[in-house]
Amino acid sequence: MIKKIEHIGIAVESISESLKMYETLFQVKCYKQELVASESVKTAFLLVGDTKIELLEATDPNSPIAKFLEKGKQGFHHIAFEVDNIEEEIKRLMTEGFVLIHETPKDGADNKRIAFLHPKSTAGMLIELCQEKSA
Ligand code: ZN
Repeated sequence: MIKKIEHIGIAVESISESLKMYETLFQVKCYKQELVASESVKTAFLLVGDTKIELLEATDPNSPIAKFLEKGKQGFHHIAFEVDNIEEEIKRLMTEGFVLIHETPKDGADNKRIAFLHPKSTAGMLIELCQEKSA
């Protein structure tokens, strides 16, 4: 079951260059920076009210974030939804005809197991499912 928006992902050229602006904009400090080696991204998290914002910077030219930035501009990249059972949700969505980029969950930032849906089956939206590892 999809429970709620877990975070909003924003692609940036450089976290060190953008973070101060986002901290000033939202009047909060980044509470965590983390490398996700499997996706070749560096992440930085800010909590704005109840909403988590994830900044994403490519650490490698083959990173999905590097490919995204090649195509256009910095900015909105994906929306992530918290699910109570990621395997079941992947199975349900595949049965419904959705195309998954990850058909089995993989490790993401912030202690999550994650899977992305392909935008070709979601009217152009890049959607991430995530589940807390300890949950
Ligand atoms: Zn994300």
